[in-house]
Amino acid sequence: MQTETGAKGRLNWLLRMAPEVERAEERDFGAERIRHLRHAIIVGLIVYNIYNLTSLHLMADIQPFTVAMRLFVLVPGSLAIFYLVPRVPPALRELLLLGGMFVASLLPLYLLYISQSAYATYTLGELPLVLLFGNMLLVLRFRLALIFTAVTCLTALFVIHAKPGLDENLIFPLTVQVVTGLFFTLYGNWHVERQRCLTYLARYDAQNRADLAERRGDQLRDLTLTDMLTGIANRRHLDETLGTWLAAPGAVLLLMVDVDHFKAFNDRFGHVAGDDCLRRIASALATFAARHDGFVARYGGEEFTLLFAVDAETGGAFLADRLVRTVRELSIPHPARADGLAHVTVSVGYAGTGEGGVREARDLVTRADLALYEAKSAGRNRSKAG
Ligand code: GH3
Ligand code: MG
Ligand code: MG
Repeated sequence: MQTETGAKGRLNWLLRMAPEVERAEERDFGAERIRHLRHAIIVGLIVYNIYNLTSLHLMADIQPFTVAMRLFVLVPGSLAIFYLVPRVPPALRELLLLGGMFVASLLPLYLLYISQSAYATYTLGELPLVLLFGNMLLVLRFRLALIFTAVTCLTALFVIHAKPGLDENLIFPLTVQVVTGLFFTLYGNWHVERQRCLTYLARYDAQNRADLAERRGDQLRDLTLTDMLTGIANRRHLDETLGTWLAAPGAVLLLMVDVDHFKAFNDRFGHVAGDDCLRRIASALATFAARHDGFVARYGGEEFTLLFAVDAETGGAFLADRLVRTVRELSIPHPARADGLAHVTVSVGYAGTGEGGVREARDLVTRADLALYEAKSAGRNRSKAG
């Protein structure tokens, strides 16, 4: 109900929706409308030509002319529209239909006007059927149906009143019949068109809400996988990724990285500067990982973990040493350390799955951790294999 009310508020009296909604509807239902239109055009054409037989009786004086007009104007015109409908932009497509319908409704009125036959007036009976076709079967857009109906109605009234020799007693009833007949088809068109717009608007809103919910879900999921301080992957993301990599075949190399003497850095510069330092290191590690098709996460505290689809024997030492150098070359001053160095460095322990080895996350992390401990013991600022 809420949606219905909201949708109604966005439909003007000509049943026009916002341009972006009309575009979306065309994307969703354009092909279906084109199929429907082409089908209806063929059916309409067949039925319309049946009137060649009625005009034989009702307009005998101009019979060849009526047949010629139908066969050489209306049929090729309709076939041209049939051809063009899927090939032109939607707005032009709808205008073409309006043009075709004008020919279909104004032609019999013209024939009636020029026919001298005493029975010609009976062809007026065809008029509401032509309108029924345009307004209810083709379902012209309401704004175009309005123009179509109004112009046809005015022309019909003109013919009824201006046609010489029409029985005086027929003028009033014919006027009423034509006006009410046409009005009914227009009313039907408004009803169908309004329902189409309201249904689509409700669908459009539902789709937008679903898209928004999906985007929010994605954002939330990103948040649950991201480390808030550094913006790189967090521990949960690491666990998921490591699990996925180990489940697939292929070598996995894991590097445990720990910042050296970081407590002293914090004690000297404060935790805010410590945070900045962790962010700079994280960013350097992210670039490093990306360059080697790897993955980086903050394991926790001042520790980071990197994964590479690389064999530990052949590529482990190279990558680990490169990584140690990369952080050292950031040249972040660290005057508080007591080992003679003056910049922030990291120690790295690494381990790989190896040939036919165990493919277990716990095993890999434990071995890399032990190697890291060795790197620390050996003087830090270096890497060790596990
Ligand atoms: P080692 O060379 O042996 O690794 O020495 P360390 O001082 O780096 O190691 P320790 O485990 O003694 O200290 C780690 C420090 O990292 C202590 C803690 O305050 C700091 N730390 C952990 N997480 C954060 C953080 O998010 N921000 C800041 N600023 N400091 C952190
Ligand atoms: Mg540590
Ligand atoms: Mg440390």
